[in-house]
Amino acid sequence: MKTIAVFALGFGTGMICLAAMLWSTGNLPIGQVHAARVVPGAIPFEDPQITHGERKQLPAVPPPFVPPAPAASGATPPATIASSSATPSLAMPIAGVDPNMLRSNFSETRGGHAHEALDIMSPRGTPVLAVAEGNVVKLFNSKQGGLTVYQFDDSRTWCYYYAHLDHYAPGLKEGTLLRKGEILGYVGSTGDASPNTPHLHFAVFQLGPEKNWWQGTAVDPLPMLK
Ligand SMILES: [Zn+2]
Repeated sequence: MKTIAVFALGFGTGMICLAAMLWSTGNLPIGQVHAARVVPGAIPFEDPQITHGERKQLPAVPPPFVPPAPAASGATPPATIASSSATPSLAMPIAGVDPNMLRSNFSETRGGHAHEALDIMSPRGTPVLAVAEGNVVKLFNSKQGGLTVYQFDDSRTWCYYYAHLDHYAPGLKEGTLLRKGEILGYVGSTGDASPNTPHLHFAVFQLGPEKNWWQGTAVDPLPMLK
């Protein structure tokens, strides 16, 4: 009996020492779990251009055109289901361009995926204007889009995406509140645009309930500009 007790004591002490050694060398399994854990809130390291391009689901029926919602007059209109889901009426992102002279290239295929955006050819350095009031949620430099701006509208229903910018407007940063028509950047050919054809790649995404700048359903922007 005494022998067993001594053995048990020795075994227990040994296990405690072993645990202490593992702990001090960082080899405890729990340490590895922590090391491999994804930082909460980290954005997925993927090109949103690719994500958007590969998105196959399109609205079965385009949202009906609704006459302009109350123009941005400074005050934010109370968000109602009706007004927040209505197709917005947007300002032209390039001053002086007649939307009636533009042709939709939303459904064209670019690089093996649906374009789902509107290209507006314009000389390098032409100011790019916010199409609506709302906050900049992300400034992102992607392989395909180059220098990009993601802006949410005030109701956080829509995301406006401006790509291939040559440079941003001075002082622009994430969180900046842009007024409709305010300069956010300048036309360029960053990303996969040809240097010979600087243009604005402009896209509109209807946000899902998670309100992530990299998730949404692309909608043809052209009818919203007319
Ligand atoms: Zn484009």
